[in-house]
Amino acid sequence: MTSKVRFAPSPTGLLHVGNARTALLNALFARSLGGHLLLRFDDTDLARSSDDFAAAIAEDLRWLAVQWDSMIRQRDRLAAYGVAFARLREAGRVYPCWETPEELEYKRKRQLARGRPPVYDRAALRLSEPLRQQMLATGPRPHWRFQLQQGAVGWDDLVRGRVELEADRMSDPVVVRADGTFLYMLPSVVDDADLGITHVIRGEDHVNNTAVHIQMFEALGHSPPTFAHVALLTDIRGQGLSKRLGSMTVRSLREGGIEPLALASYLARLGTGDPAQAAPSLDALAVDFDITRYGRATPKFDEDQLAHVNAQVLHGLAWDAAAPRLRALGMTRASAAFWEAVRGNLARLEDTRLWYDVCFGEITPTIDDPALAERAARLLPPEPWDDAVWQAWTQAVRAETGRKGKELFMPLRLALTGRPHGPELRALLPLIGRKTAERRLRTAQSQRAAAPVGAGR
Ligand code: GLU
Repeated sequence: MTSKVRFAPSPTGLLHVGNARTALLNALFARSLGGHLLLRFDDTDLARSSDDFAAAIAEDLRWLAVQWDSMIRQRDRLAAYGVAFARLREAGRVYPCWETPEELEYKRKRQLARGRPPVYDRAALRLSEPLRQQMLATGPRPHWRFQLQQGAVGWDDLVRGRVELEADRMSDPVVVRADGTFLYMLPSVVDDADLGITHVIRGEDHVNNTAVHIQMFEALGHSPPTFAHVALLTDIRGQGLSKRLGSMTVRSLREGGIEPLALASYLARLGTGDPAQAAPSLDALAVDFDITRYGRATPKFDEDQLAHVNAQVLHGLAWDAAAPRLRALGMTRASAAFWEAVRGNLARLEDTRLWYDVCFGEITPTIDDPALAERAARLLPPEPWDDAVWQAWTQAVRAETGRKGKELFMPLRLALTGRPHGPELRALLPLIGRKTAERRLRTAQSQRAAAPVGAGR
């Protein structure tokens, strides 16, 4: 049987890194087995879901190179949920309830005050049948709960191993609200069953839901899929990432210059392998992907480590991949030689601009020793230039001035690039070209010449 997995975001906000990781693990699982990935939008909560968020999530997934094979929206499948609900009702596995939210909250508080778990007391289940029928006929619209069977519910989790939960300690979940809309539980099970999902890979915040889901699968006459619940990410201090959603969206990282492969590699290797080591591609990640290797320990999302992986990805980015992106950023004169020269110095692709200006645009040279700069300018060899020009030139300057090492190279670097660090000048100098190099070295002179008479010191 082909494996089929799904990623099921609720389109109620932007994709955050925790969910992006779930999406990736599902995608890698499918890719590693030649399986199928379904993208399912859990949008039955019409008030909170939006098409714009669904579109933004899809775009972020595409950016991450997460490819899905099919897509559904739960909104389009309400009829199927209605059929399943009717079957559960016929089988006596759902029951109507009329408590108001305030009553439920009161019961909850009372239970907690007595040191008891806040489990729904099933008061609605104890209504007499005539009263229930009368309420259904003439009362306000009820909400409906799924009646859990008491006892242990267990499964072999691909990440957590054997899991056993006591249904007695859980509330019968509400499946349909008083306004007739479905909550998450039942539609999720109906979709997983109808669409032939073989493996459900999701965050460990769904462990309790899985116990409910297993009972629902069985009540509907389906055998449950295999489950894998991965540990949730925290920030570096161990705080839940959801508290910092704004800064931890895929969108914000992307806007901050994070490469898709860097994020994918980092997220996929968090919790297994070495997250600080960038993977060469998603395919490479898929080759040795094994969901059972993810541990139960909480992986910490470390932005500094991600930045480090990002730099690695840029340093290894091929010219063919960089070229269209640099063009889109307006760097039309960038060449393969230019990219080779600068990529090792980038933390973000946008940093290329700095070196682009050094090679093809304007910068402000720093000249601390105008006399040295002038002599160096005079010694610039004639063009054409290649990689050898740097050595020939610096040897000549050294011979004439007696400067060597840092004493020689730093003033030249500052004059030519305006900064104390950067790519090798051996590679930059031919790109800068003789005319620009000469002009930069003579900046101090030309500034003096341009200064109005009497304005000097
Ligand atoms: N919409 C749910 C969530 O985002 C899906 C959970 C699941 O994978 O079943 O948490």
